[in-house]
Amino acid sequence: MLPSVIEELAEKLRVFPGIGKKSSQKLSIDVLQLTQNQFDELINSLMNARQKVRFCSNCGFFAQDELCEICKNKSRDQRQICLVEKPTDVLIIEKSHNYFGTYHVLKKLISPLDNIFPPDTTIDDLFHRRIKNLLDQSNDNVELILFFRNGFAAEATTAYINQKIKELNLQDKIYLTRLAQGLPLYYNLDSLDQATIAKAIEDRRKVFI
Ligand SMILES: [Zn+2]
Repeated sequence: MLPSVIEELAEKLRVFPGIGKKSSQKLSIDVLQLTQNQFDELINSLMNARQKVRFCSNCGFFAQDELCEICKNKSRDQRQICLVEKPTDVLIIEKSHNYFGTYHVLKKLISPLDNIFPPDTTIDDLFHRRIKNLLDQSNDNVELILFFRNGFAAEATTAYINQKIKELNLQDKIYLTRLAQGLPLYYNLDSLDQATIAKAIEDRRKVFI
């Protein structure tokens, strides 16, 4: 019914999660109804973001410079590091407004069945660069908070982190915590509300190594 060029555009927009047939058609039509000026600005912003956004060299979150806004912020506790799988998980925790530490994006969780092993993650970088630097600076403890979607990969990743702590003999230096029990077993991090995340961070539990 719609001209094929609109259908083609709609089809391309379906690459985004959560955009189905109807919303992609609506979005295509909305784009076409922009003024030339609005359209040019949109294209420019897309190109600009694509060219300038990269990943923070310290934690792996989105950044425009070498470091992201969180790592640059001197009031954030560098010795409290929340481990997350994806950069977008950082946004979920940030929306709780009660976490003032930093992050480390692992990129992937270990899952041998899916052929994902420790070198596919940034765990070694965390221990051999970040934690090493922090412990060189001062003898104070470093807290690692695990914030993973529940499941086999989360358990395999936790086990590897435990093993790494033991191997490097850092049991007395690293305080390892994970979210409080009581969250649904296969909860979806994206759908957690602000209060639940805040409470989960507050009630985090020590993981015994
Ligand atoms: Zn960063």
